[in-house]
Amino acid sequence: MTRQKSFETGKASLYLVATPIGNLEEMTPRAVETLKNADIIAAEDTRNTGKLLKHFGITTKMIAYHLFNEGESSDGIVKLLREGKNVALVSDAGYPLMSDPGQTVTVKAIEEGFPVITVNGPNAGISALVASGLPAEPFTFYGFPGSKKGDRIRVFTKLKEREETLVFYEAPHRIGKMLEDALSVFGDRKMCLARELTKLHEEYLRGTISEVLEAVGSLKGEMVVVIEGYHPKEEEVPAEDWRAEIRALIGQGESKSAAIRKTAEKYGMSKNELYRKYFTEEHE
Ligand code: SAM
Repeated sequence: MTRQKSFETGKASLYLVATPIGNLEEMTPRAVETLKNADIIAAEDTRNTGKLLKHFGITTKMIAYHLFNEGESSDGIVKLLREGKNVALVSDAGYPLMSDPGQTVTVKAIEEGFPVITVNGPNAGISALVASGLPAEPFTFYGFPGSKKGDRIRVFTKLKEREETLVFYEAPHRIGKMLEDALSVFGDRKMCLARELTKLHEEYLRGTISEVLEAVGSLKGEMVVVIEGYHPKEEEVPAEDWRAEIRALIGQGESKSAAIRKTAEKYGMSKNELYRKYFTEEHE
């Protein structure tokens, strides 16, 4: 186990700084201060971040931190930390590491005992999830499901029976294909497509996958896809059947919770839902 104090440690620190996903008003004063006070800003793309820095009058020196040479870039950043320099890591938008570079250097900095500190701000996935109208928790954030059909089908198949709400990123030129694959694996579940979040053309398409699929033809911009989790239809299993099964298992010496779990597995039902039903009906 390791234990990190974040402040007043006298050690150089790695700051993971979230930046706006569109609307610059969402840059927090703390993010501005952190970038101003850092010795170096490591940016995914120095041209993009350069515009942000100019807007906020930040003159801190920048270096590039790339997804495609994370190993090399992170060694460079750890060297700066060893020299006592505070480094702020930013991506083009939102949180670094969330479908963006930053994982490797974060792990290396932790391994070497440097404080790693988050400076909060916007994230496209969470923004879409909370406004989607689908259960905000529990959820699974997946990020991009893959650019090839085979990869997407594999990812969706793995997630098919997860009860949590699912959050994906997708590029506009792939959204039609992605939703076709989602429909073929998940069936026609409820979903929400959140587009151009925090920007002038922000829009939410809420409906079933097939309804949204019909509407996405010419849609452009940045998109998050939020899909309802797996909710097996309990009505398909007659209540007298699951009740009899639970009773039989308890009769064989199983605990109530084990009997419910095994019954849910046998009938392909949601465990949580069956617990809820069993205990509410038992006390009625
Ligand atoms: N690091 C970012 C974050 O914390 O949200 C995500 C970066 S990822 C490379 C870019 C993807 O995030 C886009 O393809 C889109 O799926 C999603 N995204 C980013 N900004 C968005 C916005 N303003 N509206 C909707 N989706 C957005």
